[in-house]
Amino acid sequence: MAVRPILVAPHPALKAKAKPVSRVDDAVRQLMDDMLETMYQAPGIGLAAPQVGVPSRVLVVDVAKEGEPPQPLRLANPEILWASEETQPYEEGCLSIPEIYDEVERPAKVKLRYLNYQGEAVEEDAEGLFAVCIQHEMDHLEGVLFIDHLSRLKRDRAVSKVKKAAKAA
Ligand SMILES: [Zn+2]
Repeated sequence: MAVRPILVAPHPALKAKAKPVSRVDDAVRQLMDDMLETMYQAPGIGLAAPQVGVPSRVLVVDVAKEGEPPQPLRLANPEILWASEETQPYEEGCLSIPEIYDEVERPAKVKLRYLNYQGEAVEEDAEGLFAVCIQHEMDHLEGVLFIDHLSRLKRDRAVSKVKKAAKAA
C-alpha cells in the first residue's frame, strides 16, 4: 500500500465526472488499498478516487467512532437506489478543502448498491454519518464538492480561503 497525494480545490480534476470501473481487478484493489491508507493518514472518514487524481468510480469509507475497531469499506461503481424524503443537516468537511466546515442538508437514509473488494454486487442501507459520508463521496464522482451545496457567497469565501492557505504553505 502507498499513501497518495490528495488534490486540493480548486484543482480541475476535482470537477471532472468519474468513469465506472469495468470490473474490480487487482489494479482497482490496489487503488482501494492505497486510498484507505491515504484516508487513514490524513485522517479522514471517506475518500473518492478523483481526490487522488484517478477518474474512476471508487470510494473508501470508515465511519467507525474513536475507540471502535476500524470498519473499512471499499466501494466500486456505487449507486443510490433510494433516498429518504426526510433530510438531516450535518457539518461536513473535506480532505480536498482543508479547514472549511459547513452544514449541508442531505437525505437522512439511502439504499446503496456497489461492487465490493471481491467484485460482488452488494446492497446496503445507510443512515446517520454513514449516509452523509457516502453521499458526500459519491458527489466527488460527479465532480461536485460539498461547498457546491452552499450559497455562492459561502462557496467563494471557502475557495479563496483554501487558495490563500495554499499560497502561504
Ligand atoms: Zn470530500
